[in-house]
Amino acid sequence: MELIKDIQTMRSYIKRIQEGKIVGFVPTMGHLHEGHLSLIKKGREESDVLVVSIFVNPTQFEPGGDFKSYPRNLEWDMKLAEAEGVDVIFAPSVEEIYPGGYSTFVEVEGHLTSILEGESRPGHFRGVTTILAKLFNIVSPDRTYFGEKDYQQALVVRKLVRDLNLNIEIVPLPTVREQDGLALSSRNSYLTPAERKAATVLYQSLLTAKKDIARGIRDATVISSHMEDLIRGQPLARIDYVAVIDPETLRRVERVEKEVLVAVAAKIGQTRLIDNLKIG
Ligand code: AMP
Repeated sequence: MELIKDIQTMRSYIKRIQEGKIVGFVPTMGHLHEGHLSLIKKGREESDVLVVSIFVNPTQFEPGGDFKSYPRNLEWDMKLAEAEGVDVIFAPSVEEIYPGGYSTFVEVEGHLTSILEGESRPGHFRGVTTILAKLFNIVSPDRTYFGEKDYQQALVVRKLVRDLNLNIEIVPLPTVREQDGLALSSRNSYLTPAERKAATVLYQSLLTAKKDIARGIRDATVISSHMEDLIRGQPLARIDYVAVIDPETLRRVERVEKEVLVAVAAKIGQTRLIDNLKIG
């Protein structure tokens, strides 16, 4: 496995290797866990050359966010990636990606980026689409892998790729969870043992919605209020949003007539976590 830290070397590596080969790409912010590894494994199966980027992207963190404290451990990540047969880790510095005077941003406008995470974290998706547009240009992948844990992000990236006519296939993959249902996330490492226990309330709230729907409840307001009641019962949790939405458009639904996406964001102590579940 190679470690590449600058854009020029990354570009020439791909050019040299690419002839007729499928390049798979898994963009991450590092601190790799089984969720990331599920994308890497799928990418390994489907690609001739597999590139994983590790870059904690400052432009997607809101002011006062956890950019500085975000967990970083390149050495450990490289060990995990190497064991999965990754060909290249692309781990540029912030200066390599955003040199002094940098001023270009890529933004998907409209509903998709203005609700849920877009509403709670203004500027977040602008940072995400900017870094991905840059990484796609640098790595030139044929396929790129995203986790449904960040469901809205996967939809936003799909829109970015369509709108900019990028010749890249977006492959979404299911959320990997701990035994008790908590979705794996690099941010779980912030949780104290008590918070870690409390954090399962997010997944439990999604299961509550699933049960409601299975019981024939169709009114989205009733479903969300059951979810909210459950989360409010957990003293360490503070709800950011609970939403019952159309999985394609991300518009809120009033009645559950077909498949819906149930999404939740909450703070557990100081740590903001998100989760979602598609319910057929
Ligand atoms: P991040 O490092 O948090 O930016 O995530 C990098 C990629 O891994 C994104 O596509 C995430 O959606 C995906 N990912 C993160 N957590 C999980 C998980 N628990 N299951 C599946 N994919 C995940």
